[in-house]
Amino acid sequence: MIQFQYRLSVPCTLNEEMNANMRQNGWASVLIRWYNQAKRDLPWRRTRDPYAVWISEIMLQQTRVEAVIAYYRRFLHAFPTVRALADAPEQAVLKAWEGLGYYSRARNLHQAAKIVSGSLSGLFPASYAELRKLPGIGDYTAGAIASIAFGEAVPAIDGNVKRVASRLFGIRENVNRPAVIREIRDTLTGAIPEGKASEFNQALMELGATVCIPRAPRCEACPLRLLCDAYAAGDAEALPMTEPKKPPRTVDVAVCLMTFQHTILLFKRKERLLHNLYVFGLSEELTDPQSALDYWAERGLSLRFLADLGGARHVFTHRIWEMRILHFELLKDPDSAFLREHDALLADSAQLKALPLPTAMKAAKQAALTILESD
Ligand code: SF4
Repeated sequence: MIQFQYRLSVPCTLNEEMNANMRQNGWASVLIRWYNQAKRDLPWRRTRDPYAVWISEIMLQQTRVEAVIAYYRRFLHAFPTVRALADAPEQAVLKAWEGLGYYSRARNLHQAAKIVSGSLSGLFPASYAELRKLPGIGDYTAGAIASIAFGEAVPAIDGNVKRVASRLFGIRENVNRPAVIREIRDTLTGAIPEGKASEFNQALMELGATVCIPRAPRCEACPLRLLCDAYAAGDAEALPMTEPKKPPRTVDVAVCLMTFQHTILLFKRKERLLHNLYVFGLSEELTDPQSALDYWAERGLSLRFLADLGGARHVFTHRIWEMRILHFELLKDPDSAFLREHDALLADSAQLKALPLPTAMKAAKQAALTILESD
């Protein structure tokens, strides 16, 4: 059993009023009061509609708030209800997600929308336990939706909240250990003031995002500093403790722009990484023009090398693509059997703009559009 150290009785002269308030009402009430004064005005904070809360929470995973705002508005405009999302073709959903990355999030959203709209008759699950059953909804997202949209007294523990908790409670061990997460969960659950789960969770997230930030936390502006273990110990920047991550593997990739008259060959990815998104011809580890020519010849395409258009780099969570963008001319129209077998198509510039391509293809797409539009 992990025992968190509370410093509720820290003698402190920094702010006697705050200190007295903390003793009287508990730290959660102080945190919520701070949140109500300091919170940023974000579009998803103006609604309790579970569908909108869900979309915002999925988008906010691994993406900055500033980047999410425009996507959130556009997505809800394109798919205003869970039924509209369920009825949309997957390519339209991926297109609306284009640039946000981590496309499995969009695919899971789509799958979950189909379940809500189909077997759940359009009724959004209204509890943590039921939400957890939907694809793409993990502990954090279920906690966030259940508390924000339905007021359920469950915590929502993401990386921000783990950081705040580790500092506040002085947890000096790996915060990703299941036993530690369980203990944080129990402690936070016990701290949620009655009827205030939504504000409590959002306040913790806001504190982690704006004050208790990873480097150089702004402790002087923190409403909880009087009871913060790490503040008292002076080691906030060393927390949270985590296992060192494995560095991502670097892979060389040739991005082959294969043009035929005013079109370019695109492939729908079958691999898990970037699944169902459109990419140009990719050959891993074969980045010189002759190796790429041989690679595509083995697959039935006869090409003529035209130009090396330079390099590009994309960092995924576990992988880095070091790309070489090569331009080839297709010497003959690929036949329909080839296109069918490889889930490929010849796209003109308008189609290229309309189809969902991952951010990893951004530089290559720009080069392709320049080629297609200059012909
Ligand atoms: Fe984080 Fe500093 Fe506040 Fe502690 S006092 S919770 S370290 S910002």
